[in-house]
Amino acid sequence: MSGAAAEAKDDKERAAGPSQVGVYTVGHRRLEIAAILAHIALSVYLAMRISGELAAGGKGWWALGAALLGYMAADFVSGWVHWLADNYGTEHTPIVGPTFVRTFREHHLDQKAITRHDFIETNGDSCVVSAPVLALVAIFVPAMPGVGWAVGIHTFALAMCLGVLLTTQSHKWSHMENPPLVARVLQSMRLVINPKHHAKHHRGKHDTHYCITTGWLNPVLQTLCFWSGMKKLFLLFGLKQTS
Ligand SMILES: [Zn+2]
Ligand SMILES: [Zn+2]
Repeated sequence: MSGAAAEAKDDKERAAGPSQVGVYTVGHRRLEIAAILAHIALSVYLAMRISGELAAGGKGWWALGAALLGYMAADFVSGWVHWLADNYGTEHTPIVGPTFVRTFREHHLDQKAITRHDFIETNGDSCVVSAPVLALVAIFVPAMPGVGWAVGIHTFALAMCLGVLLTTQSHKWSHMENPPLVARVLQSMRLVINPKHHAKHHRGKHDTHYCITTGWLNPVLQTLCFWSGMKKLFLLFGLKQTS
């Protein structure tokens, strides 16, 4: 490529926005923006529904317990997505290959790349996954003022989806040299993944500490040899690791 042509290509990529090269297309970015907006709107809607249910006499302890469980479930989901993307499929796998598999594999080669992603690229794919879950709960679990288990389901879904939304953001913060104050406070309270804790995943073969929302479940899953057990189970069904 001539110097002028290379310059023109660079200008085009810069004009397209952050990381708009390779498989991160303008179309995918638009999908991410739509998913983020949908996630925000549905979260506000569910939060209003929960507050209405609580105001009508719903039991607060249902909401508290469900919020904790939902946030823990997000950590578990993050572990599953990360483990699958690190170990199975390729970047050519339909749908998830160019997004999740490619992103996690590249992250092992360049840990700082994630810190150069803007808000939309960081959080878009998480919202593509969790916004439909919020929509399903909003549609199929109607408001039931004063009913404890309904408050529980709505709060569980909201806490889990907010945790899923926070996953890549907290992963990004854990790799930043100077994360913002809010991130440092949340990290010190262990409400998002702590950099020292996440560094254990990047040591050696990247085969431990897959949970990246809070990391709360990592010690439990390590003690249970959960991921090595899952690998053996997958092998029984003929699913071999690809990395
Ligand atoms: Zn990994
Ligand atoms: Zn990482």
